[in-house]
Amino acid sequence: MDCIFCKIAKKDIPAAVVLENDNLIAIKDINPQAPAHILIMPKKHYATLLDCKDKGLIGDMLLMANQVAEKLKVYEKGFRVVINTNQDGGQTVFHLHMHLLAGRPLSGMMG
Ligand code: 5GP
Ligand code: ZN
Repeated sequence: MDCIFCKIAKKDIPAAVVLENDNLIAIKDINPQAPAHILIMPKKHYATLLDCKDKGLIGDMLLMANQVAEKLKVYEKGFRVVINTNQDGGQTVFHLHMHLLAGRPLSGMMG
């Protein structure tokens, strides 16, 4: 399957990896919208949030967001997590991923 995030997860395409475990990888977004803009994604391909029924995996994505916030030291000031889903959600890459944004005050829905 021709999926850019699958290729990143398999290390076929380089990315700046922030954290990784057996099931998940967190990378820096190539076009950051905030001083810290990290993408947390499963290594397994799910096109959108709607396609993933794995409660444990979805929970682990949120727990990895906490770990990323801790590692980047944005924990106390705060951060935002977002999962864009399908067209109106603004999803452009159809491999499930969660954005973590931090490092500046975020206003409105996406800041
Ligand atoms: P979406 O709009 O689907 O929620 O977010 C896709 C995100 O992936 C965008 O913020 C975009 O900058 C990022 N992105 C797209 N291609 C690449 C890539 O090849 N490497 C990295 N690190 N980020 C990417
Ligand atoms: Zn994929």
